[in-house]
Amino acid sequence: MTKSERTDNRKLDEIRPMKMKIGVIKRADGSAEVEFGDTKVVAAVYGPRQIHPRHQERPDRSVLRCRYNMLPFSVSDRKRPGYDRRSTELGKVITESLQPALFLEEFPKTAIDIDMEITQADAGTRTTAINAASLALAHAGIPMRDLVTSVAAGRANKKLLLDMTKEEEDAPDAVDLPVAMMPRTGKITLLQMDGIVSPEDIEKIVDIAEIGCMKIYEMQKKALLEKYSS
Ligand code: ADP
Repeated sequence: MTKSERTDNRKLDEIRPMKMKIGVIKRADGSAEVEFGDTKVVAAVYGPRQIHPRHQERPDRSVLRCRYNMLPFSVSDRKRPGYDRRSTELGKVITESLQPALFLEEFPKTAIDIDMEITQADAGTRTTAINAASLALAHAGIPMRDLVTSVAAGRANKKLLLDMTKEEEDAPDAVDLPVAMMPRTGKITLLQMDGIVSPEDIEKIVDIAEIGCMKIYEMQKKALLEKYSS
C-alpha cells in the first residue's frame, strides 16, 4: 500500500504530519497540544481533586470527566460557541476510551477533569483529542496502565485510507472508523463507525488503524522523553 492518490500526496497508509508538545498550559496539572495536519487540539488535565458538584462523588473511585469543545474559529464557517449534542457525545466517548488506562480506584472521592479545546478542525478531532489528553494525563503524573493512542482509518473514493482529512471524509462512499487503543496490550478502547462497509473491509480498516496507532505511540513516547530529558 504505497501509491498515492490523495490530495495531499500522502501514501494511503501515511499519517498526516504530527506535532506533539507537552506542558503548554501553565495553570493546569498536565497539558499537551497535538496536531495532525490541520487538526489541532489542546488538552488540559486537572486533578485528582475534590469533586464539584459533590453529589457526583463516588466513595470507591475517582470520576473521570472529559469535556470536548470545538472553538468557533476551528472550522471554516464560524461555529456557534459552546457545547452542543455532538460535543456532549464526544466527551462521553473520549471518557470511555481513556478510562481503561487509569487506576481510578486509587483516588476515591475525587475528580480527574480533562478539557480538550479544538483550535483547528480538519477531521480526526476526537482521535487527536484522545492523543493529546493521554499525554496531558501522563504530564499530570497520573498513574496509567499505558498511553492511549488513537487514529481513524476508513474508505474514500474506493481506497482504504489512514487518517483521513475532511475533504476525504466528504467523499460519497466515505467510511470513517475512529479507533483508540492501549498499544502495550493491544486493548481497543474506542471503535466507532460512520458509513456502510463490508465485514471484510472493517477488518482491513481496523488493521490499518492499529498499525497507525503503533506509529503514534512511538511519537507520544518520544515527546514525553524529550520533555523530561531536557
Ligand atoms: P472527528 O473530527 O472526530 O472526525 P466528525 O466526524 O464528527 O468528528 O467530524 C469530522 C469533521 O467535520 C470535523 O473534524 C470538522 O472538520 C467538521 N465538523 C464537525 N462539526 C462541525 C461543525 N459544527 N461545523 C463545521 N465543521 C464541522
